[in-house]
Amino acid sequence: MNVEAYARLLPEITAANKPFWDGCAAGELRLQTCTECATHRFPDGPTCPNCLSRAHTWQTVSGTGTLWSWFTMHQKYFPAFADEIPYLVAYIKLTEGPFLISSLVDPPADLELDQPVRAVFGPGPSGRPIVRFAVESAGAVTR
Ligand SMILES: [Zn+2]
Repeated sequence: MNVEAYARLLPEITAANKPFWDGCAAGELRLQTCTECATHRFPDGPTCPNCLSRAHTWQTVSGTGTLWSWFTMHQKYFPAFADEIPYLVAYIKLTEGPFLISSLVDPPADLELDQPVRAVFGPGPSGRPIVRFAVESAGAVTR
């Protein structure tokens, strides 16, 4: 992992997105939520995509979702990940609706669409706390 190149890919922490990153540090998935229609959104933005209201708050959400899709990256598209190839990129559909592009912690060999996943938090390669997802097995105990 090219940590310097990886760190350059991370979004700058701003006043607008700080609640999300603070949530990652606290082990919570926090989403911007419209105070008019309760639509959750990710990434953060100034306007609700559902009702166009600019009023919002941040809510801690379940951290659960499903594996909507995934692919294995074989191209050296990002220098940061050049020595990680091949690596898995996961599209997660959160229970609350928004999608996140992420990675899976210890992905099983038999991935299936719509498998339940749960957010897990920890330091990324640059040290900044990030969210990734773990596939929940059928017999897993839900916390
Ligand atoms: Zn709204």
